[in-house]
Amino acid sequence: MNEHVTELAAWAVSEAISRGRVHAEPRPKTRGEFQRDRDRIVHSTAFRRLEYKTQVFVNHEGDLFRTRLTHSIEVAQIARSIARALSLNDDQTEAIALAHDLGHTPFGHAGQDALNECMAAHGGFEHNLQSLRIVDRLEERYGAFDGLNLMFETRAGILKHCAPATARELGELGNRFLEDRRPSLEAQICNLADEIAYNNHDVDDGLRSGLITLEQLEQISLFARHARQALLEFPTLVGRRLIHETVRRVIDAQVTDLLTETQQRIAANGIKTLADVERAPPLVGFSAAMQAENRELKTFLRTELYRHYQVVRMTNKARRVIRDLFAAFLAEPRLLPPQYQASGEQEGMPRVIADYIAGMTDRYAIKEHRRLFDVGYLEP
Ligand code: MG
Repeated sequence: MNEHVTELAAWAVSEAISRGRVHAEPRPKTRGEFQRDRDRIVHSTAFRRLEYKTQVFVNHEGDLFRTRLTHSIEVAQIARSIARALSLNDDQTEAIALAHDLGHTPFGHAGQDALNECMAAHGGFEHNLQSLRIVDRLEERYGAFDGLNLMFETRAGILKHCAPATARELGELGNRFLEDRRPSLEAQICNLADEIAYNNHDVDDGLRSGLITLEQLEQISLFARHARQALLEFPTLVGRRLIHETVRRVIDAQVTDLLTETQQRIAANGIKTLADVERAPPLVGFSAAMQAENRELKTFLRTELYRHYQVVRMTNKARRVIRDLFAAFLAEPRLLPPQYQASGEQEGMPRVIADYIAGMTDRYAIKEHRRLFDVGYLEP
């Protein structure tokens, strides 16, 4: 395989067939348009906030656990490798992967669910839509426009799912949901790379935290098989090295399986163009056997890690922080920083409160909660 694939597949996302940016800009001189997208995402404020947002474990619980930032970098690494191996647009894939979690609230899924409940009567809250809202509107970095003014295809890749009513509001970007078209292969790759990354790093973080054990994981076929392989090669291996030698084999097996299956589906569906990709069934995927093993691992993680009582205690507290903050701001918008009060008058206070809360890091949300509710806490 080439070290660097320069020739893109005919069905890859490319500048030549791009629908471009909402606000016309001169072409970059030294890099491609999708590299520019990636660079804008890396320099954004929302990207830096990911460093202090929960993946599974709240940011202050340990320095070695994944955060949304390291998770996004791992997703980008896996997605980029897959894209390059399939002669797809790896720059664009990387841009989507790095942006895919920008809209996440503090405290992971518990935070998103709580904010969605708070917003039930005001249009709801969905982190995926929020990622798009950040790159389209909320980032304040350019004189000529709000947001990052990303390429159409990058924005489309960020928008993974979307209800019909929202799709209609989004115009051209929402059309694929109304016309039942699939996203580009680059976007499909990011979706699966996300899954590969979190299943594997949650195993690693779960073991590190002591909430799950190696003995439990030996019941899970995907993990057990690759642990046996690692021990065949290194019979005396124990502890962290055994975990890492196992996890790297699982990631490799999943990526290899996905590449083989995806290549077969591309051939079987006679894909010749990007339009063919959009009309075909999902093309990026695992074999049936790998899918079954993945499901077993996911079920294990859900019951043993995500629903572990110590995790539930944390997420329960997190939900309360989000609910308290939302209720306090809605009852008294003058508690909000002045720029949010001003936007609230234009956009409706609930949406602006959701933007403010969603933008918080874990520790900022905790501190804000203390400022508002702890009468003994004297910092304004
Ligand atoms: Mg993710």
